[in-house]
Amino acid sequence: MGNKTESRRDGAGSHGTRKLQIRLNMSRLAATLLGRDSEARSTRLSSNMFTHIFNDGHAAGTLEEQRARMVEEQLRSRGIRDPRVLAAMSKVPREEFIASDDLRDAYGDHPLPIGAGQTVSQPYIVAAMVEALEMQPPDRVLEVGTGTGYEAAILGELAAEVWTIERHEELANKAREILARLGCPNVHVVHGDGSLGLPEQAPFDKILVAAGAPRIPDSLVAQLVDGGRLVVPVGNRAEQQVHILRKLGSETVVTTHELCRFVPLVGQEGWES
Ligand code: SAM
Repeated sequence: MGNKTESRRDGAGSHGTRKLQIRLNMSRLAATLLGRDSEARSTRLSSNMFTHIFNDGHAAGTLEEQRARMVEEQLRSRGIRDPRVLAAMSKVPREEFIASDDLRDAYGDHPLPIGAGQTVSQPYIVAAMVEALEMQPPDRVLEVGTGTGYEAAILGELAAEVWTIERHEELANKAREILARLGCPNVHVVHGDGSLGLPEQAPFDKILVAAGAPRIPDSLVAQLVDGGRLVVPVGNRAEQQVHILRKLGSETVVTTHELCRFVPLVGQEGWES
């Protein structure tokens, strides 16, 4: 990632008073972000994954081989370092979450359509956002924007409990089915407006927003524990910057990172439509 700006704010819900600006050079989340994304338990996940071989111009090798290559060529080589994140990305079968028409692109270095006009992020973006959360095994996590459930399954490998919320009911239902079939009992899918968080299950140690917001939703900050961490893309509809917020008592410290492009967070604390 290139430049990172840090600002410190008083009060979990009000963004703006005491500001501390630090410019740092970061190279990690960066390189592939702009324009690319339109948008623990290691033994638990039992995949009924199927194995395919593609040699017709798409990725070659079995899906397991493609996954291993994705981890080396798209993640490790671009600076993803957390061994638990790399292990989760090596294990969760992305092919199970996407349409059969796109199977041969399951490990492509790009987002894929998932229905309802939405996308699943490219593998690197998923890994970079999850790594930015600094996950710990006892964490309770909220993901806003379930989409296919793929990222939630990755989070489920790294946390004690994951709640994930999706505004499109058909996507929420499909993700719930896939996660149940794969055996992810600590991942719970809810249908609703995640820009308001999930107050009935709060507080959370970590919150990941997988859609672009016009500003950091106050409700999400309010639902973080003291010491908690929120990762959210913030900007306009065309492009955003990944924001990483740490909640420290009554203050929040926000670092802003490189440009990215996500589908909009639509809801009461997001975009209107
Ligand atoms: N994490 C997902 C995955 O692994 O497939 C991909 C997320 S996709 C980039 C963004 C998702 O956020 C879309 O499915 C979209 O419908 C959802 N979304 C947008 N606004 C939302 C809101 N207010 N509450 C819940 N989900 C929302």
